[in-house]
Amino acid sequence: VQGSYANLTSGISVFVSGLVYLFVGLKALAGMFSVGNIVQYVGSINQFVSGLTEFMNQMTDLKMNREALGYYFDYMEMPETNMEDGLPITDAIGEIEFHDVSFRYPGTDSYILQHLSVTFSAGKKAAIVGMNGSGKTTLIKLLCGLYRPTEGKITLNGKDIQEYKYADYLKQIAVVFQDFKIFAYTLGENVAGNTRLDEKKVEESLAKAGFKARYDRLEKKAETYLTKEYVTDGVDVSGGEAQKIAIARALYKDAPIVILDEPTAALDPISEFDIYVRFNQMVENKMAIFISHRLSSCKFCDEIAVMDSGRMIQTGNHESLVADKKGKYYELWNAQAQYYKEEQECTI
Ligand code: ADP
Repeated sequence: VQGSYANLTSGISVFVSGLVYLFVGLKALAGMFSVGNIVQYVGSINQFVSGLTEFMNQMTDLKMNREALGYYFDYMEMPETNMEDGLPITDAIGEIEFHDVSFRYPGTDSYILQHLSVTFSAGKKAAIVGMNGSGKTTLIKLLCGLYRPTEGKITLNGKDIQEYKYADYLKQIAVVFQDFKIFAYTLGENVAGNTRLDEKKVEESLAKAGFKARYDRLEKKAETYLTKEYVTDGVDVSGGEAQKIAIARALYKDAPIVILDEPTAALDPISEFDIYVRFNQMVENKMAIFISHRLSSCKFCDEIAVMDSGRMIQTGNHESLVADKKGKYYELWNAQAQYYKEEQECTI
């Protein structure tokens, strides 16, 4: 947009100055102007054209900034979530249950989740699998309280999650989303999510997430600044290392509910499976939810829910699901098994 405005501005400037030069030139040819007059006119034209260009540029900036500021003000005017009102969470986490939940994103018409009922229990490993776009992440956003169900409700230990103090509720959940962020703070602060941190626990969490060898090579250990954004001796980590840091962040939080929402999507299926299995061992006795569009990553889970176009169409463990030859799981499993085989052959 800015480019087209700039083109328009220079077009108008060239056109106006051309027109005026032509006028002055013709008048001079006809002997109506003296040399002194021409110099004076040319000076005025130049000044006028540069003034006009500057004016048009300022107008373009104003228009562009107005749009950007619009987003900023919309954001600033969003109502703040009240973090402190509601019931405190004092009991241990037992169950989170979706009761006939349907959902559409604010300002949209189509339902992304439809009549979803599912229970997640403490001490159990659950998986949600399904094609991209089937609504898995949306379900997790609702579970985290980032959005509210359009219809139906979500309960924790039998009470609607909206009745609880949101600050307390968030403390129960450690989630690693696909689009996790690494911040321009120290490694320790990135893992702890706080400037006050337990360095030993940071180190342990990183080691569990498979970052130990890299950590040992870092001169300043947990005090190492990540990214070079603010400090010249900051360290840029690779995509795989960033994933490990994000997973360590979830482990450090040590919350009773842990969720992995495909933070490994950039990895190949076999590496993803390794991370999921390792993470599964680390979260023993917690409520764990694994999300993936790759069925093999979640084979080991106690309960697997299959999502398709916003609906939960099958549940069971891997053996029972794969035995149902008419089911979606069987269809996806076979399609993907073929793909893994090809991939393995390719890497050999
Ligand atoms: P999955 O995790 O299974 O890949 P998602 O829950 O991310 O699926 O997305 C389900 C559907 O919701 C997609 O069609 C996506 O385009 C839509 N969607 C996701 N986020 C938003 C949003 N913020 N606003 C509107 N639609 C969205």
